[in-house]
Amino acid sequence: MEIKPFEKKVYLSSPTMHGDELKFMQEAYETNWMSTVGANINESEKMIAEKIGCKDAVALSSGTAALHLAIKLAGERLYGQPRTGHGVLEGKKVFCSDMTFDATVNPVAYEGGEAVYIDTEADTWNMCPKALEKAFEIYPDVKLVVIAHLYGTPGKVDEIRKICDQHGALIVEDAAESLGATYKGKQTGIFGDYGIISFNGNKIITGSAGGMFLTNNIEDAHKVRKWSTQAREDAPWYQHEEIGYNYRMSNVIAGVVRGQIPHLEEHIAQKKAIYNRYKEGLKDLPVKMNPFDEANSEPNFWLSCLIIDKEAMCKQVRGEKDVLYVSEPGKSCPTQILEAIAAINAEGRPIWKPMHMQPIYRMNAFITVSGNGRARSNAYIKETGFTDVGADIFERGLCLPSDNKMTPQQQDVIIEVIKKCFE
Ligand SMILES: *Cc1c(COP(=O)(O)O)cnc(C)c1O
Repeated sequence: MEIKPFEKKVYLSSPTMHGDELKFMQEAYETNWMSTVGANINESEKMIAEKIGCKDAVALSSGTAALHLAIKLAGERLYGQPRTGHGVLEGKKVFCSDMTFDATVNPVAYEGGEAVYIDTEADTWNMCPKALEKAFEIYPDVKLVVIAHLYGTPGKVDEIRKICDQHGALIVEDAAESLGATYKGKQTGIFGDYGIISFNGNKIITGSAGGMFLTNNIEDAHKVRKWSTQAREDAPWYQHEEIGYNYRMSNVIAGVVRGQIPHLEEHIAQKKAIYNRYKEGLKDLPVKMNPFDEANSEPNFWLSCLIIDKEAMCKQVRGEKDVLYVSEPGKSCPTQILEAIAAINAEGRPIWKPMHMQPIYRMNAFITVSGNGRARSNAYIKETGFTDVGADIFERGLCLPSDNKMTPQQQDVIIEVIKKCFE
């Protein structure tokens, strides 16, 4: 059977509007509440705090802005206020998730800190608690840990919390991809000392942009609100005692967020159905879906991913910006599958390339369960038994089209196309 490309592209994950978003934006327009103050901001902050189960949520221009202020706040709590023009983390090391989007870790650099990357574990594709323990053995003075929940799957939060408590370290929790996911019945975003979520256009719900800072400490919330609006003091004129930022969310964007929040659970159900259809459809192939802790966690299934069994990988060689592979009967590789998916007008994506493999962070320390190292060649890994779980998942894994508007029929075609790659 010849497979024809989809007329309309099937995206990895795209915005889905429902109607109320426009109503709330219109309301902002008609009442001239078109700046960074207004009912949409107040309401969406309240709704998110309620949903997450935290005391306060602060609406900001992006998840990255929320991460920046969360990391800065943690830095100030640990090390005090920096001198003007200096980062709060200058000269400090910070343990960070390695397999994540770079927005998680860039704010550490904004504040002059140095990220030490902690390898990933195979069970949830998140920060490996054992590697984190190892990192504290090597760098016992580190006081800040930044974790992310990749693709909407909660990491091993309890274990990480326990290790951090033993070392008096604070946690910044990046739940940008995992809004609505739970671990032992609690929402992600609430496990860190500071949490953040994102409303970027590709996330499970969106404001077209935007993010929120989450906290149980009202004073922290006040501080972040103040910093995000240029750190203006309570005075008749513009009075500044601290460095400020223009990071507040617009009331127009907040209108979209406000309209989207009631649809979060519906989006999660759609994404879960997509994950399960892939799982069923691909069960006879030498591949596995992105794993999660079935006893303790309920992901939001933001992205469905697969990982090819080692024995079923054909040869694939990645350079800095290009890639080659050699197809073999019965075997495949992420590149071949991504090309096949693209050929039918659907969008997949490689696994987020781990931070320790990124040119900009290549000189940063990278801690794995087997030791302390940097990016290693495959040959080195083979010879020495050096483990690099992140590099391995990057090598063998990929993100599948996971758009909640994809029909079951379209998904069946995508599954067929993947099967053909292994013929
Ligand atoms: C999207 C994302 C962010 C950044 O959110 P923005 O709202 O795009 O700034 C941060 N961390 C992770 C893991 C993300 O996926």
